[in-house]
Amino acid sequence: MIFTKEKIEEFNTLLANAKKVVITAHKSPDGDSIGSSLALYHYITKEHDNVAICHPDMAPNFLHWMLGSDQVIAHQEREAEVVQLMDEADLIFCLDYNSSGRIGRMDDLLAKSDAKKIMIDHHRDPAADFVDLMFSDPQTCSTAQLIFELMEARNDLDKIDRETSEAIYTGIITDTGSFRFSSVTPKTHEIAAHLIGKGLDHAPIHENLFTTTENRMKLTSFALLEKLVVVPEMQAAYISLTQVEQKRFDAQKGDTEGLVNQALSLEGVKMAVFFKESDGIIKISFRSIAAIPVNDLARNNFHGGGHRNASGGKYVGKMADAIEKFVTILPNFVEENKSHFE
Ligand code: 5GP
Ligand code: MN
Repeated sequence: MIFTKEKIEEFNTLLANAKKVVITAHKSPDGDSIGSSLALYHYITKEHDNVAICHPDMAPNFLHWMLGSDQVIAHQEREAEVVQLMDEADLIFCLDYNSSGRIGRMDDLLAKSDAKKIMIDHHRDPAADFVDLMFSDPQTCSTAQLIFELMEARNDLDKIDRETSEAIYTGIITDTGSFRFSSVTPKTHEIAAHLIGKGLDHAPIHENLFTTTENRMKLTSFALLEKLVVVPEMQAAYISLTQVEQKRFDAQKGDTEGLVNQALSLEGVKMAVFFKESDGIIKISFRSIAAIPVNDLARNNFHGGGHRNASGGKYVGKMADAIEKFVTILPNFVEENKSHFE
């Protein structure tokens, strides 16, 4: 139980004393960073009249339907506003990230700010040095679930309205692969049951999240048909997409989301990697099953980190070299984690 009575009291004091509140979440938003931000926003605006959401960049199109998403101010697009809001804030929420490096160029603003900072997050190995109050639980499937638990701990479940409910549900769905991942617990289902019991219309949320475009479908088909490489002796598979290939299908932000999971779903494959070129760097996504710690691989070789089964990193240089580096270290990684690959 991370929402102890003492910490909730501290939370209450920080919120009550704050004149200006800013909610932040990590770069390259996903359903959980947006979902937890909007859920917290809809919740605390019921008791606080000066709350802003500042994110490093905008969410992909498939999340724009979310109620309140027009309230998100992206640093990449409206830098001056974000600088001012961060400067004037006296309370900043850090949602769905465990170190200040995860908010891109906003990390300077966070470091310079005198505001009190509250982390609510579920990533492993949180850095405590940049926040004043930390609610961190790597066992919880999503930050959105933690927002529900925060409301529960403050006896505020009756304040869950449609906006809050949809935001919490979206964060849970996207971070659990629709209730599939091992991070799902009875509590996760209890929360979904509670939300649906109170009137949440869940089917349109799944439709909104998983409806695709013709370009995206063709990009996915191309990636699977032409760019998937399986390394059966390592029980691994990888996909790569250069910038030229992405342009060919007019790839939009978020269009390659989930590709790596498709590679992971192959029979006999226990870890999957996706290499995506963007402006001189190769962004790499790692996924694994069971106890295979792809976050170690990301941390030790690709300046990254994350969860045991879902992590990421980057390579500065050419696509071919990034793949070459991965293929070279793969046998050692498999050997070191032999028991998990059996
Ligand atoms: P994705 O592959 O979806 O971009 O990222 C999956 C997870 O890996 C994220 O939720 C995050 O925990 C972690 N992650 C992705 N990129 C990075 C990175 O550059 N650094 C660190 N430390 N973690 C990352
Ligand atoms: Mn998350």
